[in-house]
Amino acid sequence: MADSGARKDHLTNALSGPAQEAVKGEPHSALDLDAGVHRQKAELEKRARELSILLRIAQMAASSLESSALAQAVLNEVIQAFDAEVGAIFVRDDETGFLRMLGDFGLSPGFVQAFQAIPFDHPNALPARVARTGESLLVEDTAYLSSAVLPEFRAELPRMGLIAPLRARNSIIGTLAIGRLSDHPFTAQDLSLLTIVGQLIGVAIENAYLFARTQQQVQELSFLVDLSARLNSAYGIEETAEIALEAACALVKATQGALFLLDASRQVLQLGAHYHLPAQTVKWLQSQRLPLTTGLFQQVAEQARLVEISDATTEPRCQYAPGRTLREACYLPLQTGSRVIGILELEARLQSERVRRILYTLGDMAAVAIERARLISTLQHYADGLEAQVAARTEDLQRALARAQEADRLKSVFLSTISHELRTPLAAIKGFASTLLQEDVEWDPTTQREFLSIIERESDQLERLISQLLDISRLEAGILNIEQVACSLSEIVQGVASRLKVIARAHELQVHIPLDLPLVYADRQRIGQVLSNLVENAAKYAPPHTAIVISASAVEDQVQVSVSDQGAGIPPELRERIFDRFFRADPRDGRPGTGLGLAICQGIVEAHGGRIWVEGKPGQGSVFVFTLPIAQGPNGRGEGN
Ligand code: ADP
Repeated sequence: MADSGARKDHLTNALSGPAQEAVKGEPHSALDLDAGVHRQKAELEKRARELSILLRIAQMAASSLESSALAQAVLNEVIQAFDAEVGAIFVRDDETGFLRMLGDFGLSPGFVQAFQAIPFDHPNALPARVARTGESLLVEDTAYLSSAVLPEFRAELPRMGLIAPLRARNSIIGTLAIGRLSDHPFTAQDLSLLTIVGQLIGVAIENAYLFARTQQQVQELSFLVDLSARLNSAYGIEETAEIALEAACALVKATQGALFLLDASRQVLQLGAHYHLPAQTVKWLQSQRLPLTTGLFQQVAEQARLVEISDATTEPRCQYAPGRTLREACYLPLQTGSRVIGILELEARLQSERVRRILYTLGDMAAVAIERARLISTLQHYADGLEAQVAARTEDLQRALARAQEADRLKSVFLSTISHELRTPLAAIKGFASTLLQEDVEWDPTTQREFLSIIERESDQLERLISQLLDISRLEAGILNIEQVACSLSEIVQGVASRLKVIARAHELQVHIPLDLPLVYADRQRIGQVLSNLVENAAKYAPPHTAIVISASAVEDQVQVSVSDQGAGIPPELRERIFDRFFRADPRDGRPGTGLGLAICQGIVEAHGGRIWVEGKPGQGSVFVFTLPIAQGPNGRGEGN
């Protein structure tokens, strides 16, 4: 701690040590011999003392693995062994580049405080110089050192001093300095001995450091292993984010923290987890989808590296959330590969490179765990959807199966019905024809005509049945021919008017078709057939003398045609089924029928691109409605009938 060049005479190099001097020349006389023996004895005693000092210090050095306790214990031993009054052990702090006082003896707390850390490259501080050069120093008058020491501590400086480097393997890790306040000087031999002590202590302290570092690494490893286990057993994105954030806050000793997740567009952030944030801030953040341009987030995401703000109070971009003032902040991007999936915001100052390194590892682990949780939740979502779809399909299939079974049953019923339906007119025809042909009976012309008209009516019935069977099989084969043209509904009704009159002769048939009804795009004959069928049903199922009304209106781009009656109506639960082939609501009501009429109507209407359904309240009659497309072009909408 002084101008070393100027006072070089006061400093003795450790290597010009005492050992060589001590074993000088051979004895020449008895007196010489005596003196020689005496010297050798003294020398041996000194050696023995030195060895015992070294042994004690070596024992001390092996007594602890905690560096500062070790340094202090060894220093105490050195002070005693060298008859010194003050001393200190300095070690080099690689992170700061300072020499740090690891143990002290006989120094006032103020002195210790003031010289706790000496810059390694300090030009005047002797401990720093010894650490740099690796050469031990014997200082015989330290008064000259006072220029390097603050005035208030000058009185504490020793008058005599020894400084040796602490050597560990191939490097110098610090210095050991001892001193005496009295004028009693140290010898060059003391310096040699202290140099060896410096090596002993250096290795011991290095070992303690290695041990501490190993322990630290074990701690880091178990922290990360524990975190990995907890992330692995987390369920869902939220729990994963919470575990990651909590671990990060614990690692960097953050006072507050938040974990934001980037959405699929990677432009919007959502709060994934929060740690010790004010309730008001949490509420605000939860209600927000923060654009990436908020605060420092975009910068963090783009740079994809840790951003640290030491004074966040002067950085307006850190103060974006109401109710919270960040004092210091660090932002860690969470990334899988090169993709940033979220950002950790921690109110903390990172204390060391080591913490930074672990934080990065934590970020990587968290990102992978969050991605995995996301993937699982997506898969779960699909699996749920799939399950629902399978359930719906199963239900559909069950319904279809029930319908198929029902259709099968109806078909059997139909077969017996149709044979009956066919046989009845056939029997009548055959009966009346045979009667007429009887040779032994002469029928008068009136009776003959009556019989022939019965034969004609029954033939018609037979023909109707056969054409129904043909239609239904054409429909099933998809070859029912429909020739659509633009035509008016009145025209179609007109075409079947005489037939309708016959069908509804016991009822009161009314037709209400507005004059301005648009033309429809239809097959006249087929739609005439539908109308006849519906009127026939109305006449069959509604009591005589009640009204049967055909009406029509335009609704959007369609014409709705309805046939209503005043019969018993159709219960709502059967309204879809009556359009099924062979279905008859009450097959035992004695009314003739095959259950094919409405199925054919539906087939014809649908082939036109329309729809057919039944309305009405039970007990108040039925209203059968079907739609037909309005004809486009010159004869289309708005042209009337
Ligand atoms: P069906 O030859 O039995 O009349 P449809 O296919 O024409 O066959 O009709 C199917 C069933 O729908 C009928 O058996 C009947 O139960 C019911 N139905 C049809 N039209 C009417 C109506 N206007 N009023 C009451 N029930 C009807």
